[in-house]
Amino acid sequence: MLDPVSPAFLLILGAAVPPPPRAFFDDPVSVYFAGDDEESEDDAGPDSAEAESESAQPGTGGGLRYSADLTESELQRRWKEDLASLGTISVGFADQGRLINAARMPQDEAFVCQRPELAYGTQETVAALTLAFRAVHKQFPSSAPARLSHIGLADGGYLRPHRSHQSGRDADIGFFYKNDAVPGGRARREKLIDPARNWALLRALVTQTDVQVILVDRGIQKVLRSYALEASEDSAFVNGLFGGGSHALVQHARHHKDHFHVRFYSPRSQELGRRIQPLLAQRPEQNIVLHKVKHGETLGHIARANNTTVVLIQKANRLRGSFLHLGQQLRIPLRGACTRCPLPPAVVVPPRRLPAMNASAVATAAD
Ligand SMILES: [Zn+2]
Repeated sequence: MLDPVSPAFLLILGAAVPPPPRAFFDDPVSVYFAGDDEESEDDAGPDSAEAESESAQPGTGGGLRYSADLTESELQRRWKEDLASLGTISVGFADQGRLINAARMPQDEAFVCQRPELAYGTQETVAALTLAFRAVHKQFPSSAPARLSHIGLADGGYLRPHRSHQSGRDADIGFFYKNDAVPGGRARREKLIDPARNWALLRALVTQTDVQVILVDRGIQKVLRSYALEASEDSAFVNGLFGGGSHALVQHARHHKDHFHVRFYSPRSQELGRRIQPLLAQRPEQNIVLHKVKHGETLGHIARANNTTVVLIQKANRLRGSFLHLGQQLRIPLRGACTRCPLPPAVVVPPRRLPAMNASAVATAAD
């Protein structure tokens, strides 16, 4: 069956064909990555860990943990008068969200952003990625830089072809390969990846940043797990990461045979995202929901469903007529408080998983 947003499907409908995703545009040997990363609606199976909004547990509510420096009145004042001073704000869920005041990945010798226009995330995500890439670079100074593919758009929201990557907390990172030879086609990557550097990256992410989940194919996991155990890593630590089951930090997901999909906690940005929801209506340009056009929808349908008007939607999206194409993302201006915006549970970052300190690890830590 055709993917409802595939160019072929759009051609059938006679719609304008958007350019294909150009992941690794400047890196023709790894164009495969783009197709392999397809995370379409068809993926809504039990292994679809992308859909954060579907698995969210009710929050514990309660006090502020990560933005307590901002009183409610100070937050309201800054929301209205000095929005930029609040830093990044992650609204909603990874698969149903957006981003305000996005941060962008810096230039660095430790990594390349293969899609600079999709290198926007929360400040926590940007800092975490930068730190982990630099840790690998320090350990392997002669390595080619790490390859960062997509984080998200500057405003977040739907990013083709992903299910998540909407709230600035998801990043796709290409593997390191032996001799830095990035394979194309349907090559079996388990045999081609460089276990040492991929494990170093995974280890840095897990021990030095706040990772919520890492999605990668189980064949790749097997290689990294064996490598780590052979390298005398603490087996309880290693087995806890890959152990299977919902408590494992590294989870299998389809279409993740050539990259790590890393979702970070962004505690302050997420907490601010919860706190500003009741304030959205005070800033008309921020009082929006992002909507991905589905089959058969018209501007009229979308306006009615969101209690707004066709004219407001046209204006917000600089649309001249009423033509829409499948998968197009629209900014929907609301006329009052949002009643359908999902409010995620309060974020609580769990303690990082660390290996037991053995003598050599203590020596390294003391360096
Ligand atoms: Zn991804």
